[in-house]
Amino acid sequence: MEAGTVFTTVSLMIIANACVLSVVSRDLPPALQPAARSWQIGTVLIAGGCAVFAFGHPLPRPVMLVSANALMALGLTAYYAAVQQFYGERPKAWQLLPAIVTTTGVLWFSVVHPSFQIRVVIVSIAWAWLMGASIWTLLFKSADDTSLSRRILIGLFAMGVAYGFGRFVIYLLMDIDRDFAVESGTNWLNLLSPIVMTLLPVVGTTAFLLMCSDYLRRRLEVAASTDYLTALPNRRMLARSGAKRFREARLNRSGFAVAVIDIDHFKAVNDTYGHDVGDQVLVKVADILRGHSRKNDIVARSGGEEFTVLLDAAHPLTAVDAIERMRVAVARSRFTAGSIGIPVTVSAGVATCLDTDIAYEDTFRRADQALYRAKESGRNRTETATVPLIEEQGASLAPALLPDTSQKV
Ligand code: GH3
Ligand code: MG
Ligand code: MG
Repeated sequence: MEAGTVFTTVSLMIIANACVLSVVSRDLPPALQPAARSWQIGTVLIAGGCAVFAFGHPLPRPVMLVSANALMALGLTAYYAAVQQFYGERPKAWQLLPAIVTTTGVLWFSVVHPSFQIRVVIVSIAWAWLMGASIWTLLFKSADDTSLSRRILIGLFAMGVAYGFGRFVIYLLMDIDRDFAVESGTNWLNLLSPIVMTLLPVVGTTAFLLMCSDYLRRRLEVAASTDYLTALPNRRMLARSGAKRFREARLNRSGFAVAVIDIDHFKAVNDTYGHDVGDQVLVKVADILRGHSRKNDIVARSGGEEFTVLLDAAHPLTAVDAIERMRVAVARSRFTAGSIGIPVTVSAGVATCLDTDIAYEDTFRRADQALYRAKESGRNRTETATVPLIEEQGASLAPALLPDTSQKV
């Protein structure tokens, strides 16, 4: 078989793939559209490059070589841009440099100083640069992307780099005459090149679409476990995180505490200022709790105006201390409805995990009971469920240990 026949078959396959991509990409969300468009452009450009190799014989040879190589390099540039856009990066104009160097280099070394070897060096370096940059972006700009499709795409780009380098070495070592042409003849390397070139536009396009579907799946998972109003983890996520933290604490014999925080008289806020102001209060309280949480704490919205904090505190006082900081911060913050100030406070119940607790829900239930006591005792305070320890210290934890700031705000 002749390399020209392979190039013809390959370009038709790539074009068919670009058509599939254009149909599928219409259903992608707006965030993925630029990346899909760039990948499609890359696929069409590479198909164009293969088509010029296949059907460009009537053209003067330098014109054919320059246009085919320029299309290929621009195609790889578009792939690089697609990978960047997928991870929210903006491609830069200077990234066209390898394609420009390829075009001018191939033009110079086919018209002014015809040299097959130097052309191969230029083209191989440009391809390695573009594919290497794509690998770099896939490897390092996507720490949370553990998808198999991403690894497949990295593998394809890596194969492209390895093949380009191997071909470059073989061509340099081969005893090549002046008329040697990569686009024709039956040299095994000439036959292999277009086949390897199909891997990215065909298999790579499938991997790219799988990456898009993985991205959508991850987005759906986040949406299903996030509260739409406050952007905190929701009750569903809390139950999962709580069970996980509880298991880990049992396994590592480490501390685990649960705090339930509830806004005081929130119904009155809604009734007096309206539901929208109530929503704004909820968002601000969520921001304060999140802002005053420690690195390993998980703050979630567990109900209407109720929040739950998971802490890895072994000692009840540590947990109470952390929650008191949050309570005081809410009480000291200024909430407004227009120009009118709204007094907003929260009450909290804290429980640390006991040996008798069988599941996360047991610890949570005791924290909830402590919250009930905080409400009963006048609100804007923190109560703890770990009564034995407090008796040991001969002190009532709230409000004697932790001064009630309600007077000050
Ligand atoms: P307490 O101090 O005993 O907790 O009194 P409270 O008024 O805060 O408690 P109650 O359970 O009587 O009222 C809670 C209110 O929270 C009732 C409900 O309409 C409101 N609420 C629940 N979810 C939302 C929400 O997403 N937005 C708004 N604006 N209000 C909400
Ligand atoms: Mg309430
Ligand atoms: Mg409530």
